[in-house]
Formats: sequence, C-alpha cells, structure tokens
Amino acid sequence: MYKKYKVDEILIDSRRIAGRVKEVAEEIHQEYSGKPVTFVVVLSGAFVFAADLARESAVGAVVDFVGLSSYGGGTQSGELAVTKELKTDIAGRHVIVVEDILDSGKTLAALAEMLKDKGAASVKTAVFLSKQVSRAVNFEADYVCFDVPDKFIVGYGLDAGEQFRDLPHVAVASEIQS
Ligand code: 5GP
Ligand code: MG
Repeated sequence: MYKKYKVDEILIDSRRIAGRVKEVAEEIHQEYSGKPVTFVVVLSGAFVFAADLARESAVGAVVDFVGLSSYGGGTQSGELAVTKELKTDIAGRHVIVVEDILDSGKTLAALAEMLKDKGAASVKTAVFLSKQVSRAVNFEADYVCFDVPDKFIVGYGLDAGEQFRDLPHVAVASEIQS
C-alpha cells in the first residue's frame, strides 16, 4: 500500500529560493570559470536545483546524472547501490556533486569517494538543503543554499512517495493517517 502525504507548512518561498540559488551559483562561477567542470546530479530529487544552478552558474559544465539507492534502511556508510551509472568520463574533471538534501551524510560521503576513485581532479558538493541533525558520518557540503529543521521536506524536486517534486517552494509534509 502506498502511503499518502499532505503538505503542512511552507518553509521557503520561490522568491527566496531563486535569490539564494543565484548567490550560490555566483560563488561557483567565481571558483570554476575556465576549468573543465562536470555537474554530477543525484537523481531524482536534485533535478530542479540542478537545472537552476547550472544555468545561473554558467561555467559551461558537462551535466551528468547518477542514480543511487542505499541498501535497506539503516545501513552503514559506503553501502550504496548505483542504479544509474554516469554517462561521461570524469577523469581529470572538476566535479560538483549536486544533491537535494544532506541528512545523515552517508549518501554524499560515499558518492564523493566513488568519484575520487574515478579520477576526478577535484570533488565538491552543492546541496540545496542541509538538515540540522547530527550526521551519521563526518561530512559537510561545500555549498549549501538553506539549512532546514529535522522535518520531512518536500518541493523544488524533493518528493514524498513521488509526489510534490513540482512544488515551486519548500514545504514540510506529513503522512496522512487513515
Ligand atoms: P543521507 O544524507 O541521509 O545519506 O540521505 C540524503 C538523502 O535522503 C537525500 O538525497 C534524499 O533523497 C533523502 N532525504 C533525506 N531527508 C529528506 C527529506 O526531508 N525529504 C525528502 N524528500 N528526502 C529526504
Ligand atoms: Mg536524494
């Protein structure tokens, strides 16, 4: 049975999102202009952030996508299954991993290691949201648009049971108890 969710409260409206993404994109522009850059976008939640960040940063990046799922719920760092491989070679390229939200840190810590092993010249991470929780692993992102509380977040790409990715704002969702 699929769970059903409802949106409870809007945390960040679309104007604030646009302004902040532009600021982060400008930082990336300053740091990466003239370098061979690849955005590695983590499917599916980062697709909206990546679309805005790529256009605003305008560094002529290659944009590639990776699909990941963690084995079982509470697994150890590193136990990541790749469900969709990169299409391009990242050897020698400056990689910016683009992710929707940093929570325990396990996903990004493991992915960053995988990408370094593939020979990237550098690997940094840009997250749209950073959850204010104690991380399961020692990992923080290089670029963060917003900090959010430890609640279930949807919108601007983030889903609840594949719903709400198309919301233009960031909201808190909860399960409908039936
Ligand atoms: P972690 O940092 O714990 O390895 O995992 C981060 C991943 O868990 C994110 O990529 C995202 O897919 C998912 N996630 C964590 N917190 C939330 C949340 O509040 N809302 C949604 N929609 N996904 C979340
Ligand atoms: Mg994700």
